[in-house]
Amino acid sequence: MPELPEVETVRRDISGLFVGDTLRRLVVTGRRTVRRHDPSLLARIEGQELVGVARHGKFLCFDWGAANVLVAHLRMSGQLLAATAGDAAVAHTHAVFAFSTGRELRFVDPRTFGELFLASAPQGAGAGPPRERVSELAHLGPDALAAEPAQLRAALAGRRAPLKSLLVDQRVLAGIGNIYADEICFGAGLRPDRPGGALDPAEVGLLARSTQVVLEAAVAARGSTLGDQQYRDVAGEAGRFQLQHRVYGRSGLPCVSCGRRIERVRWGAKSAFWCPGCQR
Ligand SMILES: [Zn+2]
Repeated sequence: MPELPEVETVRRDISGLFVGDTLRRLVVTGRRTVRRHDPSLLARIEGQELVGVARHGKFLCFDWGAANVLVAHLRMSGQLLAATAGDAAVAHTHAVFAFSTGRELRFVDPRTFGELFLASAPQGAGAGPPRERVSELAHLGPDALAAEPAQLRAALAGRRAPLKSLLVDQRVLAGIGNIYADEICFGAGLRPDRPGGALDPAEVGLLARSTQVVLEAAVAARGSTLGDQQYRDVAGEAGRFQLQHRVYGRSGLPCVSCGRRIERVRWGAKSAFWCPGCQR
């Protein structure tokens, strides 16, 4: 499932390719892709210019001006692929943004958990960041790449849930999933199954630092594409950060730092990869 670094890579690509272009037509053929409202409402963004693309957590927000924000969530297998009108159709294409330039942005999603919807703006919302402009995103915690250590400290205080469970909880921090939670805990030297509220201030500081370092490195490497090949960038290319994973998916392999075997710890339906030599 795409997490913050993959979604941020897609955001940057789309910004570079399509901002300033006018949407000629948006054709939705996937019945599940637009499921929060009547798909015909999307006609209101036709003829509008794409002013910008923002992101909060794993959500992309396409700004069409005049308070029209289209939100996209890739969920398990969604991809946004650039194409040119007349290019061969790709299987599982559920929506096509056709721009007046002749270029297209295609929403491809084999598992159909992904979605597009027009945001409903809270009363009095201006041109602020997405979480303030989009009611549907109001429940999310701060974006993981922009979160301040103090916000992280407040979010973990008193929590008994395992650290990893809290990191992947989008109400705590938005954008982190299974891969990056494990990599962030390793970078911070913290066991993923420790109660979140048991971290001392210095450890919360290490966690905040590791969150920034890991997510920025992953964005620089254009995200992680795992064996399922479900994450692709806008050009259809794989990411490269999977080559830098230090614990995720490395059960039984030697730790790159201390040489001990990476283990997998489980609690309930959740699990995490970690190094018994490096994480306390
Ligand atoms: Zn180690």
